[in-house]
Amino acid sequence: MTGSARSFPLETPGYDAGLRRETPLAAVLRERIRTSGPLSLAEYQDVCLNDPSHGYYRNRLAIGRGGDFITAPEISQVFGELIGLWCVVAWQQMGSPKPFRLIELGPGRGTLMRDMIRAAGIARGFLDSAEIWLVEPSPTLREVQGSLLGETSVPIQWCGSIEEIEAETRSGAGLEDRNDVAILIGNEFLDVLPADQLVRSPNGWSLRHVALDQSDALSYADLALKLGDHARLGLETASLEALMAATNPGDIVTIPRRDAALSRILASFDRLAALFIDYGYCGASRGDTFQAVRDQRYEHPLTSPGEADLTHLIDFDCVKRQFSDDFLVDGPVSQGDFLGRLGIIERASRLMSANPSSATTIESGVARLLSPQGMGGRFQAIGIRTKSVRPLPGF
Ligand code: SAH
Repeated sequence: MTGSARSFPLETPGYDAGLRRETPLAAVLRERIRTSGPLSLAEYQDVCLNDPSHGYYRNRLAIGRGGDFITAPEISQVFGELIGLWCVVAWQQMGSPKPFRLIELGPGRGTLMRDMIRAAGIARGFLDSAEIWLVEPSPTLREVQGSLLGETSVPIQWCGSIEEIEAETRSGAGLEDRNDVAILIGNEFLDVLPADQLVRSPNGWSLRHVALDQSDALSYADLALKLGDHARLGLETASLEALMAATNPGDIVTIPRRDAALSRILASFDRLAALFIDYGYCGASRGDTFQAVRDQRYEHPLTSPGEADLTHLIDFDCVKRQFSDDFLVDGPVSQGDFLGRLGIIERASRLMSANPSSATTIESGVARLLSPQGMGGRFQAIGIRTKSVRPLPGF
């Protein structure tokens, strides 16, 4: 078993209520819906991933060959090494500041940061200047990251949420020049942030909810958009009208929840270089982008609440729009193009010459990261920087 990335297939399996698994969270959700009514899709995703007792990320070791899905850093060390070198170049472009924050959001097993540190270590002064912060809500994953990164000699600090980093940044704000520069990385991070779905009917919009059907099973219910929903979703009447003109009945439009803490933390640094890589698309997608993966297989998102990974494909045009008011945005470009411009082929060749016995594994890992029909084409990279920072490498 080589492990499957969470980008495939794009088709969501149909919902068969008979296959539904009676997870501990399913009972909690049914009770909640009975007393307080249907949950919006974003609320459902949030509870399934983050419920303190039964949430998917709280207790499970989801990522890696034995987990539910596999990510780029778990496929090839070259991925993390190139991101490490990307950080070095961004740091040098900012004038090699000391200190600066190196922040990773959602570090998974810690593999990306380990490989980044190894590669970036060759640049004089980089690691000595970096204050490394990992933002990870899952205690299980924090432990895995701790033991993997314990091998490195670099001190690392953990936060359970972006809000915690923010609080820490504020408390350190009295120290002159402390928190003014940050390099921030998020691989497969944006897709865990909850999103809603608007479903287009012949003459209006419905908001997708999770409700109970006649047999008390969780089921989708598309409820007419109410007045208060507009503000909550950050939708103006004009943008809904524009969407109406661009869509057909039956189309589904994904509306990511604006993550206020993420926007604030990005805006809190005088100089920032941020990189997000995720699976997603540019241009219009009018289909269902909500997906569940369990045990390296796709299932319908209502099948195993709390025990499957739930993500949305990312609309990168929308990410670009969200950040363009306050930042300069580089890309999006496909992961294949991004890694190509960072020199993945040259780096892999050097690694293969130095380790002939692993050459086949290195080659097939890199091919997987670059494949236009696979991760190379379906994942996109986007760079976000403050106005004083020069264009970021790879775009
Ligand atoms: N970046 C890693 C893992 C991606 S999986 C890799 O490439 O392998 C998503 C990661 O985001 C997990 O570590 C998960 O626990 C974390 N996560 C989930 N919700 C989060 C949140 N709200 N804030 C920060 N991290 C979160």
